[in-house]
Amino acid sequence: STPAPLLDVRNLDAYYGQSHVLRGVNLHVQPGEVVSLIGRNGAGKTTTLKSVMGVLRSRTGQIRFAGQDITRLPSHRVAARGLAWVPEERAVMSTLTVRENLELPPARPGGWSLERALEAFPVLRERGHHPGSKLSGGEQQMLAMVRVLRAGPRLLLLDEPSEGLAPVIVRRIGDIIESLRADGMAVLLVEQNLRFASRLADRHYVFVDGQVVDEVARDEVGARHGDLLKYLSV
Ligand code: ATP
Repeated sequence: STPAPLLDVRNLDAYYGQSHVLRGVNLHVQPGEVVSLIGRNGAGKTTTLKSVMGVLRSRTGQIRFAGQDITRLPSHRVAARGLAWVPEERAVMSTLTVRENLELPPARPGGWSLERALEAFPVLRERGHHPGSKLSGGEQQMLAMVRVLRAGPRLLLLDEPSEGLAPVIVRRIGDIIESLRADGMAVLLVEQNLRFASRLADRHYVFVDGQVVDEVARDEVGARHGDLLKYLSV
C-alpha cells in the first residue's frame, strides 16, 4: 500500500487580484520523493510553490502536509512545519558575506550545521568572506539552498535551480539534490530544463494555463519525450 503523502494539494485555485491563475490543481509528494512541475513560462508553477508555502494567500482548496491542514497558516508557520522554499531569485543577502549569509538563519534540530554546509559545499568555505553580490549564479544557488537546509526541512521547494547555470554547475546541483533525497528529504522542483528534471524526478506534473494536464512517471519519460517537449515548446 502507498504511504500517506507528505504533501497533498487538492483543488487549488489561486488569484492575483482579479486574475484567476490556478484552476483545480491536484498534486502530491510522497515522503522521500522528488517531483517536478514542468510547463512554459506563466503556466502557474511558481504560483503553485507560493501557494503551498503560504506566501500567496489568495487561494482556495486544501493543502495538507504530514497529515495536517496547513492551508490557513502564514508562511513562517508553514516553514516551522518543515517546508522550505528557494525562490527563483535565490534570495542571497548581497551586502553580507557568504559566512554571514550562512550564519543568519539559526540551525534547528535536525538541520545542517555550519560545518556540514561547508563540507558539502567547499566553494562556500573558499568564498567565506566574499559579499553575496560577488558570487556566481551557481554559488548563489548553493548558498540559497544551504541557508534553508539549516532549518532541516522535510520538503524542499526549489524554483528553477538550474536556471542560468553552466552545465558543470547544473550537474553539481543535481548531485546535491540526489544526496538530499538519499538523506530522506522530499523535493518539489519547478523546471524548464527537461533533461535536468528527468534525471532527478520520480514523477512530473505538466502545467498548461494554470492546470495540471498530465502526469508522467520516471519510467514513462522515454516513451513520452515527444509529448513533454511539445508541452514545453513556445
Ligand atoms: P515562470 O517560469 O515564468 O515563473 P510559471 O509557470 O512559474 O512561469 P507563474 O509565475 O506561476 O508561472 O505565473 C502564472 C500566471 O500568473 C502568469 O500569467 C503570470 O503572468 C501571472 N502572475 C505571476 N505573478 C503575478 C503577480 N505578482 N501579479 C499578477 N500576475 C502574476
